[in-house]
Amino acid sequence: MLYIHRADILTPRERLANSALLIDGERIVALGDIPCPAEAHTIDATGLILAPGFIDLQLNGGFGFDFTSDPRTIFQVAERLPEHGVTSFLPTIITSPLATVAAAQETLRLTPPNFRGASPLGLHLEGPFLNPAKRGAHNPAHLRQPDLRTMTGWSHDSGVWLVTLAPELPAALDSVKCLRDQRVVVSTGHSMANYEDALAALDSGVTYGTHLFNAMPALDHRDPGLVAALLTDPRATVGLIADGVHVHPAIVKLIWQAKGPARINLVTDAMAALGMPPGQYTLGGFTAIVDQISARLADGRLAGSILHLDQAVRNLIAFTGCSIAEAVATVTSVPARLLGLADRGQIAPGFIADLVLLTAELRVKMTITKGQISHELR
Ligand code: ZN
Repeated sequence: MLYIHRADILTPRERLANSALLIDGERIVALGDIPCPAEAHTIDATGLILAPGFIDLQLNGGFGFDFTSDPRTIFQVAERLPEHGVTSFLPTIITSPLATVAAAQETLRLTPPNFRGASPLGLHLEGPFLNPAKRGAHNPAHLRQPDLRTMTGWSHDSGVWLVTLAPELPAALDSVKCLRDQRVVVSTGHSMANYEDALAALDSGVTYGTHLFNAMPALDHRDPGLVAALLTDPRATVGLIADGVHVHPAIVKLIWQAKGPARINLVTDAMAALGMPPGQYTLGGFTAIVDQISARLADGRLAGSILHLDQAVRNLIAFTGCSIAEAVATVTSVPARLLGLADRGQIAPGFIADLVLLTAELRVKMTITKGQISHELR
């Protein structure tokens, strides 16, 4: 058993000052003003915030590894993610041959023995049904028109949890319905969808917008398009890369004011250079040039980010003035609700003990994954 006490607990719906939490095995069993069982290992969290572990819905790789180039590296990256408070994530496979998706599904089927790290919950397939006009850093040779045969074997149960597609492509809405039937969350992105296309997508079961404002037409007051639909329709949760490069801080503020804390989800969209020095790295077969703040193709297009999720949380507060609890929700309870997770993303009895201890400045002090300490800053 693990007993954490004197913590400022963010559930994140409420804030419990000077409180304790008890973990038994993988799960949280109690919290609040509770006594310490004699046999428990104790952690004194004086001055620290205890929050649910962070969930990243879009991560292409990190620490030198690119999932699309080699899906077998997913667990190697997963081991390092607790350094930044991440306790679960969706490994993201960008547009690639279908065999790459199958290999990633295969990787997720078997957790390595004695693995301690963030849980790769299921895949985020970003592509191949994307609009070539907004392909970003995706390889045009592997883009496809939506068709149900391509999606054979894609289901929540087979490890596909989120698919980003361009809803304006022919037969895209049939694909949305098919994926929803397989309990896959569907997102719009890398798209030229106009406002009506976007509303039709939301009507057919799309619930998310991938990296809002990036890889979609800019907001136009006479042609509102996908951006305005995602900003104004309460059915849509929006993914946001809050590194200050992908979206200007003023636009982050605009998104915050339009959507509020319950419909914004910070993602990193981080690539192989995450946690690595500047240099040249691979993203889905292309070379990206990485400096101190961004990763770009030779022509200057952004190729994922080098953003850490805890930095994104700090940035959101700096850009919008939101509360710590609101910022934490965007990487915990919001993604958990989007994915329909009943036992992650909150601190409550019965939930998986995925937790992060943060300093008052929101630096990661300790991360607990499934009840085990997987990172500790000494
Ligand atoms: Zn993208």
